[in-house]
Amino acid sequence: MEKIVYLDNNATTKIDERVLDCMLPYFKEQYANPSSMYDSAHVCSNAIDEARKKIADFLGVVDSGNIIFTSCGTESANTAIKGVVNQYGNLETKNHIITTQVEHPCVLSVYENLEKKGYKTTYVAVNENGEISIDNLLSKITPQTILLSVMHANNETGAVYPVYEIAQEAKKINKNIKVFVDGVQAAGKIPIKLQDTEIDFYSISGHKFHAPKGVGALYVKKGTLFEPFMLGGHQENSLRAGTQNTPYIVGMGEAARLAKESLDFELNEVKRLRDKLEDGILSSLKNAKLNSKSKNRVPNTTNIGFEYIEGELILLYLNELGICASSGSACTSGSLDPSHVLRAQKVPFESLHGSIRFSLSRFTTEDEIDYAIKKIPEVIKKLAKISPFQNELMKLGL
Ligand code: PLP
Repeated sequence: MEKIVYLDNNATTKIDERVLDCMLPYFKEQYANPSSMYDSAHVCSNAIDEARKKIADFLGVVDSGNIIFTSCGTESANTAIKGVVNQYGNLETKNHIITTQVEHPCVLSVYENLEKKGYKTTYVAVNENGEISIDNLLSKITPQTILLSVMHANNETGAVYPVYEIAQEAKKINKNIKVFVDGVQAAGKIPIKLQDTEIDFYSISGHKFHAPKGVGALYVKKGTLFEPFMLGGHQENSLRAGTQNTPYIVGMGEAARLAKESLDFELNEVKRLRDKLEDGILSSLKNAKLNSKSKNRVPNTTNIGFEYIEGELILLYLNELGICASSGSACTSGSLDPSHVLRAQKVPFESLHGSIRFSLSRFTTEDEIDYAIKKIPEVIKKLAKISPFQNELMKLGL
């Protein structure tokens, strides 16, 4: 296959060449253990400190001491959620944890696990655009609540949640609550400013903003305690044991710097291309429906339901044309179940099984979008001819 049009940047992103260049010396010459005492080790620990500063700056935090490096977004989320429950929870009086129905499995699975251990869980609903009612969420808080987890941006629809306001209002109701925000899909797409907010924990993952896979970070608000997840050595201030992955941490630091630098481009140019793709598809197919019309979406994501067409088939046909996209079902461990996010939004049956997420990056070109706008309707029209819902599709002019 010649042409690849990569429209699956919420799954992972291409590593930026400049990021790779920064990493290479730490694979070759600078291989010392950053915890050792000699000069070459200090080169590595200094590079880690530098990366920590870049991440703090990226997250709008003054003190880089608030940043802990981890292996991925999943580890960061597990660290925050289990860390709070182990630190503050007990099954008698501090046993309630709240999240939303549309979180990533790295949050939902931990909640389900804690539920099995006897914790009480509340999963807050969303509306048809994937939006949360803040009042409804706040009404779930009780004196027993110890943790509230709300993602900053949804990985499937791109819907952005008002996490700063949620954290602030939640603490007015119960000042002891800890707030965790999964920021994995917000990082690099919208501005982030954690300083002077009530957010206690914020997770990011390098591979979603052009750093390699296998490195993440967790912001922890000053004074917020949690039981560390990884025990062992004294790395990361004894909050995350294990020899630091110097090259990857250096790479993520540089990726964060570059992401901050290109944020305007993301908010304007990437959004322009996303809107062009969205309009191009919606205007040429009567069976195409936008799955989140929320005013507040990250600029790179669109999720479109193609009524009466099977999502897996769409992906297979697009793959033949070199177009990479994904369906909600594909992210949920290869199962064919419809996406839990779209089910929570009560997306109608007709488009639930034919919903596709397209996600762009700063490397997506106009030519690629033009190609996608041409090819996607062709694929849908071809599949309409073999759909068991011929009558319905004919009524829609397909
Ligand atoms: N949170 C969200 C919203 C995500 O989209 C993802 C990955 O897709 C993760 C967490 C997990 O991140 P990682 O792949 O680094 O474990």
